[in-house]
Amino acid sequence: MTIISKKHFSAILLTVGLTSAAACANNTSVNAPIAQANTIAQRLVSSTVAQKPSGQFGKPIDCTLGKDCFVLLYFDRDPSPAAVDFGCGRQTYDGHDGTDFAIPDAKAMAKGVPVIASAAGKVLRVRDGVVDRRLQNPTDKANVSGTECGNGIVIDHGAGWEAQYCHLRQNSVVVKPGMQVQKGTVLGMVGNSGMASFPHVHVTFRYQGKAVDPFVGADAKLGCNTARNPIWDKPIDYVSTGLIRAGFANKAPDDNAVWAGQFSETKLPINSPALIFWVQAYGVLKGDREQYKLFAPNGETIINDSKEIPAPSRTWLRYAGKKNSTNSPLIPGVWRAEYRLTRGDRVLTEVKREVELR
Ligand SMILES: [Zn+2]
Repeated sequence: MTIISKKHFSAILLTVGLTSAAACANNTSVNAPIAQANTIAQRLVSSTVAQKPSGQFGKPIDCTLGKDCFVLLYFDRDPSPAAVDFGCGRQTYDGHDGTDFAIPDAKAMAKGVPVIASAAGKVLRVRDGVVDRRLQNPTDKANVSGTECGNGIVIDHGAGWEAQYCHLRQNSVVVKPGMQVQKGTVLGMVGNSGMASFPHVHVTFRYQGKAVDPFVGADAKLGCNTARNPIWDKPIDYVSTGLIRAGFANKAPDDNAVWAGQFSETKLPINSPALIFWVQAYGVLKGDREQYKLFAPNGETIINDSKEIPAPSRTWLRYAGKKNSTNSPLIPGVWRAEYRLTRGDRVLTEVKREVELR
């Protein structure tokens, strides 16, 4: 007997939402004089030259986008309670004032992915010591009140520019207030501290105190599809739909387990209660189609199922699989699975995976 079970976990993306630099600095007694001095200097600069250098900031994470990291959420460009990203997509939420560079799971986080300075500058404020704990529901949100940024760093990048880096891994921050950093200097490691429901670094750029969407620049009008003058030194593609991770499990996976890095095995015991092929994606839209296929070691097609996605979701976890039963046992050998996500004629994501049952 083949079972096809699918489940849609409405994603609780509570992510960051830190609006003020102060919320990222609980050690103000040490840092206040530095911050204050800078503010005065900043005012002088802004009142005289008001430079807006663009095209100078690097991405704040040392990884290859599309390979081992991805932008999961963008800046919210809609002033109303609705939310829209600069590409007119939904990969943001109301009031999100930065960009989330995410990594696949807590295993990658434990290995260590460096957060790096987007440009040269002076460290203004630092916080560390906040535990890495994935937010799962609104109650968790209250628990991180006052430390939404988690472990974070604020850097004065000069000429009126400032950047705040959030959610670093507990006890990974390696810079101190007053330190000069170069572009690319390691600040710490990507983590899951503060108000974050997945491992990532949130970066907020500010020009003269006002949050700037780095993909469109400081002068952009609100809303989407406006003129773009990105502040990035190299183009960063807008990828609003993609794969986070895929794999096999011997029981139904859930968001927590998947973000924790579970179910990445390439070998499973033959007496497993089930063989489940799962896929975690981001940025799916209503009307997208997904297809799951599962092939037994003898080549037999066990599952070939195609379904339309009923509602948009910023993150998406689904699966298909086969139970192990006396009547229809799992057979030993290499099982293959395929997944394809399409929008109209466009293939957005294709995945192939293998697992050995023995
Ligand atoms: Zn964020």
